[in-house]
Amino acid sequence: MKVFISVDLEGISGVFAEEQTTRGTEACGTAKEYMRADLDAVIEGCLSAGAAEIVVADGHDQGANLRFDALPAAVSLSSGSPSTLSMMQGVDSGCSAAMLIGYHARAGTQGAVLDHTYSYDVQSVRVGDCEVGEVAINAAVAGVFGVPVVLVSGDDKLAAEAHDHIPGVECVVVKDGVMRTAARLLAPEAARAALRDGAQRALSAPAWPTPLDFAAQTMCVTFRRTAACDAAARCPTVRRVGGYTVEISGHDYLEVFDTFLTCVALARLADH
Ligand SMILES: [Zn+2]
Repeated sequence: MKVFISVDLEGISGVFAEEQTTRGTEACGTAKEYMRADLDAVIEGCLSAGAAEIVVADGHDQGANLRFDALPAAVSLSSGSPSTLSMMQGVDSGCSAAMLIGYHARAGTQGAVLDHTYSYDVQSVRVGDCEVGEVAINAAVAGVFGVPVVLVSGDDKLAAEAHDHIPGVECVVVKDGVMRTAARLLAPEAARAALRDGAQRALSAPAWPTPLDFAAQTMCVTFRRTAACDAAARCPTVRRVGGYTVEISGHDYLEVFDTFLTCVALARLADH
């Protein structure tokens, strides 16, 4: 059994402050250690449930957060950026199941730790009639390859969002969000035991969730600033539908996702 694990930073146990996710700060250095510790617990759970191969994607910022040292031999690590599938780099149809660890709720979620959707330039993302965050956007990438997301971890708001999109998914709540930069944190030992047990339970479950399928539905991305939207709208295949909003369509979801990543990258170049 091959398992894919995408790891973000905002939903890692012990993380609640902007500074902890900002490259180059001392707090971020410590948070990266928490990230690796959460991942190690999940890997332990996967191995004890019989995983023979584990592919990990370092999904935060530039993908250079997870320490390489002392990873078990069964693990390979997708590091660095940009990469074709970004936070989902390394998932393919040979994977049996996927896990989204250290994830956070979508932009605009009240009481959610460090809520955002791929970039602070983005106000909201809709696929069809559904407002989505990184959990659904990325679970649908796994879905293209027929891979179900069986486990997510983060705060309590992330768990609620995951249940909305992926019925039956196992959720490990490592903190309760109070406000955007305030939370009640589980102790490291408790969080990591829950992650290890959650991973083992998710893989051993008699039935797994259905892979998320967005097919080729249109995606609408609303930015916070017109300048960001101006930049994103330079992507030749998108349609500008408002001051803040572009509409993305494609032959399949991977094409839509790829264009979304391009829009986010372009928006980052806009003047602040
Ligand atoms: Zn994220």
